[in-house]
Amino acid sequence: MDQTILILAYLIGSVTFIIGLKMLSHPETARRGNLVAAAGMGIAILGTIFLYRQSEGGHLHNYGWIFSGLLVGGVIGVVAARRVKMTAMPEMVSMFNGMGGLCAALIAISEFYHLLHFNTTTVQGGFVLGFHIPKGEMVIIILEMIIGSISFSGSMVAFGKLNGKVKDFAFPAQQLVNMSIMAALLILGIYFIWITPHLSGISLEGLSQYIPAISPYVFCAVFVLALSYGILFVLPIGGADMPVVISLLNSCTGIAAACGGFLYNNAVMLTGGILVGSAGGILTVLMCKAMNRSLGNVLLGSFGGGAAAAKTSGGTQGSYKEISVNDAAVVLAYAHKVMIVPGYGLAVAQAQHACHELEKLLEERGVQVKYAIHPVAGRMPGHMNVLLAEADVSYDKLEEMDEANSEFPTADCVLVLGANDVVNPAARKDPSSPIFGMPILEVEQARTVIVNKRSMKPGYAGIENDLFFEPKTSMLFGDAKSVLQQLTSEIKNM
Ligand code: NDP
Repeated sequence: MDQTILILAYLIGSVTFIIGLKMLSHPETARRGNLVAAAGMGIAILGTIFLYRQSEGGHLHNYGWIFSGLLVGGVIGVVAARRVKMTAMPEMVSMFNGMGGLCAALIAISEFYHLLHFNTTTVQGGFVLGFHIPKGEMVIIILEMIIGSISFSGSMVAFGKLNGKVKDFAFPAQQLVNMSIMAALLILGIYFIWITPHLSGISLEGLSQYIPAISPYVFCAVFVLALSYGILFVLPIGGADMPVVISLLNSCTGIAAACGGFLYNNAVMLTGGILVGSAGGILTVLMCKAMNRSLGNVLLGSFGGGAAAAKTSGGTQGSYKEISVNDAAVVLAYAHKVMIVPGYGLAVAQAQHACHELEKLLEERGVQVKYAIHPVAGRMPGHMNVLLAEADVSYDKLEEMDEANSEFPTADCVLVLGANDVVNPAARKDPSSPIFGMPILEVEQARTVIVNKRSMKPGYAGIENDLFFEPKTSMLFGDAKSVLQQLTSEIKNM
């Protein structure tokens, strides 16, 4: 009976993951989708704790450890999620993803020792009988350990890079070193898979020689090599490519978790892992497309490095025009159609509510207002959608890049709020630019452009923006929130 209910719990878990993921694809249902999937996960966890029967027949017994772990992890998760600023969300995603990778690696390590220990118990006449770890299980254990460890150490480096504590680092022949580590991992992995079944039927003495040879040294070496690979693989990748890397590592964690599902023959772990693995993989491909780059180029190239730095040091490119809050308020209030382009600066200033206030005020005056959302605006995929949803901006006002680009020529004014790289025309016009080829919001097609930021400093990719020097562009300097509040009060007084 217990087992039937457990299978049902896993089925519910798997189905809620699929439904939740589907709901996550639209901002209107995303929040509920998250809750649905979390509830399914809760059911699967509770089912495992109370209904799972070990191969020896009994229920789990170490409840003290299990609930202590759940409590500590749960409290850390809730506090971290509540405290995190919207701008630091990618760091948190990276950290949580790394923890998932570490869990998978630890499961693989403990299962390896468990199998080794469990299978050496049948001893007869000084010979070990039944010492046999099936090849299939060994393949899964090794894969799970390598992929989980790479995901863990890579995510930790990505976390450090996103919060600015770890700088890009590359050395000559880095790719060669990385490839050598990967080759060593493959050779050691194959060695393990080959050697373990051969331990069957050997003498106890022979086994005691074998175990030290395979367990503490070689297994640890695989673990350390996989960790080093994760670090060296992420270190040279430029900051602006981090979302792609995080998504790729996310996919790795999913695959490692799916390996765990195979290992334990656990349906819900398998479904969850496969969904995360494939969703992460698809997102990686989509983001590469949004930046017009191949995955190989992202992983081997360094974005925001040499060329970008050279261009930044080249200084400003001519003169720019400044606009006062009063004049900007007049332009906006008397426009027929205004398109707002939110960027990372809007998130930094926490200006989403002030932005929604301005939008409502303009609409009351008969101005049509739309938001143009670039797929990589901000610091993580969907950053702007989440931010605007938090301020109750209606979803039908949000336009994706292609739709927005076809509408810019009909706009009287584009108000760029703390966005920079995603509106940089160099991506279309300057083949020497490091962002050349990245699809951008073509705001310069509108009649006028007002850019709000605090200074003439470059954005995330570290490059100048020719848009700021165009004759139709006016710079409105200041913190986004305070500027928006001033604009609102000016328009109210008109
Ligand atoms: P950018 O980082 O290019 O530009 C943001 C601008 O906001 C800066 O130029 C800054 O100028 C301004 N700013 C900062 N604080 C404020 C403030 N308080 N008020 C007003 N303005 C402010 O952001 P975009 O959104 O245009 O582009 C995103 C970039 O980040 C892309 O290069 C993308 O590839 C990268 N990226 C994207 C990720 C994603 O998944 N979405 C993840 C990681 C990176 P100033 O200092 O002068 O105020």
